[in-house]
Amino acid sequence: MSDQQHVYPVREDFAAKAWVDKATYQAMYQRSLDDPEGFWAEQAKRLDWFKAPTRIKHTVFDTHDVDIRWFEDGTLNASVNCLDRHLETRGDQTAIIWEGDDPKDSRTLTYRQLFDRTCQLANALKSLGVAKGDTVTLYMPMIPEAAMAMLACARIGAIHSVVFGGFSPDALAQRVKDAGSKVVITADESVRGGKQVPLKDNVDAALTREGTDVAEKVLVVQRTGGEIEWKDGRDVWYHDLVDPQSTDCPAEPMGAEDPLFILYTSGSTGAPKGLKHTTGGYLLHAAMTHQYVFDYQDGEIYWCTADVGWVTGHSYIVYGPLANGAISLMFEGVPSYPTNGRMGEVVDKHRVNILYTAPTAVRALMAHGDHVMDSSKRDSLRLLGSVGEPINPEAWEWFYRVIGNKQCPIVDTWWQTETGGIMIAPLPGAMDLKPGSATLPFFGVQPALVDNEGNLLEGAAEGNLVILDSWPGQARSIWKNHERFLQTYFSAYKGMYFTGDGCRRDEDGYYWITGRVDDVLNVSGHRMGTAEIESSLVAHEAVAEAAVVGFPHDIKGQGIYIYVTLDDEHEPSDELKKELTQWVRKDIGPIASPDVIQWAPALPKTRSGKIMRRILRKIAANECDGLGDTSTLADPSVVEELIAHRVIK
Ligand code: ATP
Ligand code: MG
Repeated sequence: MSDQQHVYPVREDFAAKAWVDKATYQAMYQRSLDDPEGFWAEQAKRLDWFKAPTRIKHTVFDTHDVDIRWFEDGTLNASVNCLDRHLETRGDQTAIIWEGDDPKDSRTLTYRQLFDRTCQLANALKSLGVAKGDTVTLYMPMIPEAAMAMLACARIGAIHSVVFGGFSPDALAQRVKDAGSKVVITADESVRGGKQVPLKDNVDAALTREGTDVAEKVLVVQRTGGEIEWKDGRDVWYHDLVDPQSTDCPAEPMGAEDPLFILYTSGSTGAPKGLKHTTGGYLLHAAMTHQYVFDYQDGEIYWCTADVGWVTGHSYIVYGPLANGAISLMFEGVPSYPTNGRMGEVVDKHRVNILYTAPTAVRALMAHGDHVMDSSKRDSLRLLGSVGEPINPEAWEWFYRVIGNKQCPIVDTWWQTETGGIMIAPLPGAMDLKPGSATLPFFGVQPALVDNEGNLLEGAAEGNLVILDSWPGQARSIWKNHERFLQTYFSAYKGMYFTGDGCRRDEDGYYWITGRVDDVLNVSGHRMGTAEIESSLVAHEAVAEAAVVGFPHDIKGQGIYIYVTLDDEHEPSDELKKELTQWVRKDIGPIASPDVIQWAPALPKTRSGKIMRRILRKIAANECDGLGDTSTLADPSVVEELIAHRVIK
């Protein structure tokens, strides 16, 4: 595992201009633990408050009573922080660069324009009867109207629930019903990879499902002008209703603990959970992490490739960047259209300085070989970021070398929908990088490792990742199901937030996420993380992607079942299977020897691009009838293919 020993020291020229260097990190981190009240009272000043908070932290992590409140007597409005307060200083500066699916389509919106359009939409929502505390479901393409819709809800105190535009009518219906949304905002169609997706048809279908009649109005953006059905009295064209509205819409003063949004998790491990995030703490955490982790400097072009349907899009396309007055690029399309070089071409076209993407995208590009980036120079880039899954060292190195031209630090950011913002990640001017490690905690974040009995592990160790105390961006509950919130996150280990992830801490105190705890293998009494074996496989030149799961094994307890996707240049063969087996044995040890290798033309992934190991586990165990919740699966045909060719041991 020589790869994991590589260290990339902080570059001096980078540190010299960065917001935070090594000494500053140490001092600020220490202060955030020693004096959380003082630290956060000071940090809260980065937001504009109608009434500044005097009560800073009231948080209880108890199995029977979880009560999390930050800045609770303060009042503010998230849209004011993202828009109004920038008008005087940067009204004419670009807020959003929109890059369409078709490379010929792009436009920019200044802060002033975004403000005006948001206020108009906010007035339009009011005219539809939306009031403070109501929920609004957004099922939208990646167009600026999606950001406006979020901010317009925030402006009038409505709670948005964004549902990723790739979800099916059933998945949408379930979320509209759970959130109890009066209004759904959508578009006629979205466009991705040159294809139209019938968003409005999907909404029509969703709203025929039981329990969705709470939705009284559907507001429809005209994106393509494609044919759609129209339900009089329910459906309203966005341009008809919004365009004539006044650009004057006073912002609702919100309590810091009033909900800002609900968001459902990606469903990698089971049925999605509707996490509730509140206004003050969330916004502060999003803004602060955006500035420090991406080392955002005024005027830089920043691109997060996530969809607004995921928490990454919420915190790092909309709320964090806009609260900081940044220039945020929003991309409608996919990285493989019209060509596999698109990501680099977008970087060149808009002179992007900071690029934040996911390991799944990096591995997909890597499988095509280095020449995939030949159509772009990417010489404007200064920093790269990764989120969503562990990034294996091989993919990290490729990201660094090919996409970043060896010029850009990579911030591998570990966090969750539940955490609201980044929790463990390098501050690029302060931390030496180790490929595959998310490095060290952000200010105020107290990660720890515990064994299965909940005993804290000291020093270099491996165990279950927990967080010992609250941080401002933390989700406060699961929507209408506080009991499930307690059960899921606070019942495993007393007085601690349990992340569900496994993790190793090395001798430098660096954190290495080893995968979901549910996915940890126990082979002949040895516990192994899936990430480690997968990293080893991906480091082999033939392997594009790999997923590792355990299956019941008479002798070892659990055997190792591996699904392998090869890159463009390699074909499956028994020879190659043998070679991969030897490879893993040599790299990790005989204990990690695969029992089964199945060739997988593709892996089952969530709509957000994460490997769904729980489904692979079922297939490996030959329990193909009970695959559990598959509503968040991106492409069901992948599963059928794997079932058809499964290897039964
Ligand atoms: P569900 O909770 O419904 O199963 P999910 O966990 O995939 O879905 P998210 O909140 O989108 O939903 O993902 C958070 C998880 O993603 C983390 O718990 C972790 O497993 C993984 N993850 C995110 N970023 C990283 C990272 N940088 N390194 C390792 N793992 C990461
Ligand atoms: Mg999760």
